[in-house]
Amino acid sequence: MSFSSKTKTELCRAPLARACCTVAEAYGVLLYGGAFSHREIRLTTENAAVANRLCVLISRAFGVQVQAEACGLKHIVQVADERSLRRILGVLGYDFKYHISYHLNRNMVENDCCAAAFLRGIFLMGGAVASPDKKCHLEIKTAHQSLCREVMSLMLDMGLSPKMTERRSSAVLYFKDTARVEDFLTLIGASRAAMEIMEAKVEKNIRNTVNRQVNCETANLVKAADASARQVLAIRGVIDRAGEDAFPEALRETARLRLSHPDASLAELAGLCDPPVSKPGMNHRMRKLMAFAAQYAPVEETPDD
Ligand SMILES: [Zn+2]
Repeated sequence: MSFSSKTKTELCRAPLARACCTVAEAYGVLLYGGAFSHREIRLTTENAAVANRLCVLISRAFGVQVQAEACGLKHIVQVADERSLRRILGVLGYDFKYHISYHLNRNMVENDCCAAAFLRGIFLMGGAVASPDKKCHLEIKTAHQSLCREVMSLMLDMGLSPKMTERRSSAVLYFKDTARVEDFLTLIGASRAAMEIMEAKVEKNIRNTVNRQVNCETANLVKAADASARQVLAIRGVIDRAGEDAFPEALRETARLRLSHPDASLAELAGLCDPPVSKPGMNHRMRKLMAFAAQYAPVEETPDD
């Protein structure tokens, strides 16, 4: 089951405690569903829990009994008889004589509780949310531009800040920011889905931080080991050709320490000196030592390639 579908299934468990909210959610479902006119209401979903929710909503909000019909992978909820349609449109305040305009009637979502229920309704029909392991994205789509703008303004009034975009024949409201997606899902009643997104983000952050640290430490260790190997080689070169005494007095201790502690960092070598020197002091000695050893280095062969 996709994460969208899982989220919608969770939303279907939201209690229908208040009559005002039940109507508001049904209103959202109808505005964002398939067909909504004075001739026919037709809602299509692939999610069985959503199909069941639609029937419950229509029955509770309008007192109209409907059943979902399975059609391949889809479930269709349809109201086509005039008596039921009159009843539904009457409750929603539409004049049956006129065509239904796809506009948001703010009177239907005046209370905060109702506004949240309305958003749940539109998400059930037009919404999608990316799985927590993917890039964060939640969107709600409708074919009606002006409706989309009106819902956006409702959301802005509620302190949500969606972005809007047009895609082919649809208008889309979306969130890309994890915190905003979480807020939205929590508001409409999918706190479990919100939690999953949050946990995935925390895990990803931890993984990234650990990876960065490991990469950085590994790179530093490799760099240090490389430098030490070059120093050991240079010191051996001098000793092989001219013996340890060839080193000036001041560098002899450094050469000896490096040979006996090839894995030590410069700071550690500095501490091993007698008396100990500072790390910059050791750095300076090592540079002098390498410059000195360079005179004894064999002439490097030019690589073939
Ligand atoms: Zn309400």
